[in-house]
Amino acid sequence: MPQPIVAIIGRPNVGKSTLFNRLVGKRLALVDDRPGVTRDRREGDAHLLGLEFRVIDTAGYEDEDPVSLPGRMRAQTEAAVREADVALFLVDARAGLTPLDEEIARWLRSADTPVVLVANKAEGRAGEAGAIEAMALGFGDPILFSAEHGEGVVDLFEALLPFVEKPEGEAEEDPDAPDAPLKLAIVGRPNAGKSTLINKLLGQDRLITGPEAGITRDSIAIDWLWPDPEGEPRRVRLIDTAGMRKRARVQDKLEKLSVADALRAIDFAEVVVLLLDATKGLEVQDLKIADNVLQEGRALILAINKWDVAQDQSRLFNGIKAALEEGLAQARGVPLLTVSAYNGKGLDTLMKVAFETREAWSRRVSTGALNRWFERALEANPPPAPGGKRIKPRYVTQVKTRPPSFVLFGTRVDLLPESYRRYLVNGLRREFDFGAVPVRLTLRAPKNPFDRDRE
Ligand code: GDP
Repeated sequence: MPQPIVAIIGRPNVGKSTLFNRLVGKRLALVDDRPGVTRDRREGDAHLLGLEFRVIDTAGYEDEDPVSLPGRMRAQTEAAVREADVALFLVDARAGLTPLDEEIARWLRSADTPVVLVANKAEGRAGEAGAIEAMALGFGDPILFSAEHGEGVVDLFEALLPFVEKPEGEAEEDPDAPDAPLKLAIVGRPNAGKSTLINKLLGQDRLITGPEAGITRDSIAIDWLWPDPEGEPRRVRLIDTAGMRKRARVQDKLEKLSVADALRAIDFAEVVVLLLDATKGLEVQDLKIADNVLQEGRALILAINKWDVAQDQSRLFNGIKAALEEGLAQARGVPLLTVSAYNGKGLDTLMKVAFETREAWSRRVSTGALNRWFERALEANPPPAPGGKRIKPRYVTQVKTRPPSFVLFGTRVDLLPESYRRYLVNGLRREFDFGAVPVRLTLRAPKNPFDRDRE
């Protein structure tokens, strides 16, 4: 496996070389100083708390004629970023942001390489203001670092970890890995058919695996292989709320219980299937559970059970769909399936949709693609100017997955009306196929001198 590559990017004098030397340490002897193509940069084998990677420092051009600097720098930055798995973008927390920092930020935003923002020279109070200012660059909260004093090393380690090779043995535990077991909970009112569904899923041709093989219904998690008819068997960890109920010995009334069960299951699950009863339709309590699932940021699927005995099926289906959309706006577009736990119909589709939904829920959009979409969205529907004051959204960045969470930066974006925020969220959903998984968008209008209207 080739070594992961980390590129150190930043304007002159922010401390790139000091960081490079820290990372490479005694291995400095291995630094490449070949003439020609690599003239403008140094490379070395870096070592950070057990992480090993190749580091590229783009510092070499700092002696260049300042007039040609931006152009040369851009070429350097772009070349280094292109080959890197992650870019460490260094700014100077003491000096504050400069136009060159902002220009580099613009280049980095249009690249597909992930960026870790580092506010260097952040030791002491003087660094704090600059670090806050750096948030406005759109790469999330900066790591407070001091290359000189060696502070912030653990934060840097944690930030780089997802992008560079993991220590052996950890891959299996990575919840982001597509082959990690799907954590699936089945919730719903009493008698919706949850137990029947789980039993059917685990039925004779289904294989129970893992250390908990042979478990009884008292267990909370059941490891199971779903024999995907379209491919390899896939790992599932079923969260069994019936088992949880016994264990918790909850004495509440049954109706309350299903909500309590659901809440506990939601804690464990990535994807939650809310089971409805075709003979009962959609009730207020179902909406309550659905709302909880979405508020907790979990991916939701609705399945109408007992479809084998459902009367007047298309009217029933459309009625439930309409009631759902009216009762819970956030649930619009949530997959609505029909199943029979009794005869097994629809269960393979349910599992297939569950895996697809988790994939969307875990998806990371590249910053480049995100901002290309963002510019089009602003152009198609420019933001309003409440009270004649112009709102200027600048860029958007994905700060988290599971669920996908974004932050929008710009001047006065905190004044954007809810309808506009919804417009952007819906656009994000459509453009990047998030379906109905919860998508979070936070608006941030940093109050700092670099946020004036300057374009
Ligand atoms: P739970 O309380 O949600 O776990 O519900 P159960 O699994 O105990 O099911 C409640 C009742 O509904 C039982 O009598 C089941 O036999 C019945 N049931 C469950 N699923 C189906 C189904 O798909 N079709 C039919 N016709 N009956 C079902």
